[in-house]
Amino acid sequence: MKDCLFCNIAKKEVSSDIVYEDEQFVVFADINPQAPLHLLIIPRKHIHSIDHIEEKDKELMGSLILTAKKVARQHNLAGYKLHFNVGKEGGQVIDHIHLHLLADRK
Ligand code: 5GP
Ligand code: ZN
Repeated sequence: MKDCLFCNIAKKEVSSDIVYEDEQFVVFADINPQAPLHLLIIPRKHIHSIDHIEEKDKELMGSLILTAKKVARQHNLAGYKLHFNVGKEGGQVIDHIHLHLLADRK
């Protein structure tokens, strides 16, 4: 999507601190970290929010979680938090699905 910030980060048209990327996903540092390590995991595919996923996105969403695990392992994290904000009332500001990964140490 042309005017979507996270689509543009995925395309590297907007710069960010990318820590992992593959064909389907991009993982980058949150610009306003809420923990010592705060990453955002996004699919390259533009999906508005969890409220917009469909049956056909099942595999993609499973792989999104596996990507979170992979990146956590790469950072040697003993534990971490994963969360989705869903919809404006749920605290979602950027309308491109993203999984927050937060950990107490870098
Ligand atoms: P939400 O509230 O939508 O779940 O989370 C959006 C997140 O994106 C926020 O934690 C915010 O700090 C982060 N963010 C907003 N704009 C940018 C940006 O331009 N670059 C990066 N790296 N993160 C951003
Ligand atoms: Zn997008």
